[in-house]
Amino acid sequence: MWDTFYTTTDDLILRTHTSPGQIHAMREYAPEPIRVILPGKSYRYEQVTARSESMFYQVEGLAVGKGITFSDLKGVITNFANQMYGEGRKMRFRKSYFPFTEPSVETDIECVLCGGKGCSICKYTGWLEILGAGMVHPVVLQYGGYDPSKFSGFAFGMGPERIALQRYSIDDIRYFYANDMRFLERVG
Ligand SMILES: [Zn+2]
Repeated sequence: MWDTFYTTTDDLILRTHTSPGQIHAMREYAPEPIRVILPGKSYRYEQVTARSESMFYQVEGLAVGKGITFSDLKGVITNFANQMYGEGRKMRFRKSYFPFTEPSVETDIECVLCGGKGCSICKYTGWLEILGAGMVHPVVLQYGGYDPSKFSGFAFGMGPERIALQRYSIDDIRYFYANDMRFLERVG
C-alpha cells in the first residue's frame, strides 16, 4: 500500500509507518495486557507536497487486553481530539482498510484553516485526516502471543506534523524540514 526507500544494505528498508513496533511490544509483554505509545520516524517514497513529506514522524498507540471494544477506541480518540483541538470540534470516523486491523477507520477533524469551507490543506474537502486506527486483527494478536478468543485490542497511528499544521494553522508541511529559524522559533 505504501512505497518506501530501499538502501544498499541487504534486508534493510525504511519503514513506512510505526505499526511494525506493535509486534515488538506484544512479544515483550504477552500475555500481560498492554498500553503503549511508539513514536518514531517513517519514510514514504511519494511526491512531496504541502500536505505530504517523504520523511515524517508517527506516533503509534496500542492497547491489548480483555474486553477491549471499538467503543474504547472511539473514546480514546475523541478524548485526544477534544484535548488537542478543543471541545466540540467536528469529527468523523470513516471506514477504511489497513492490513493489520479489522475493522479499520480513519478519523477526520474539521479543517482548522478554512473552518470546513475547503482549502489547499484539506484538498477542498473541509476535513483533515488526523489518524488511522482500528481493532487489532486476530492474526496479529496471535503472532504477538495473545489468544484472540480471550484478548482484543485497538491501535492507531497519527502524524504529529500534520496535527501541528492544524494547531498552529501552518499551510505547508515542508516548513518542518526547511530549517528556517523564523518558523522553528514560532512552533518551538
Ligand atoms: Zn481547509
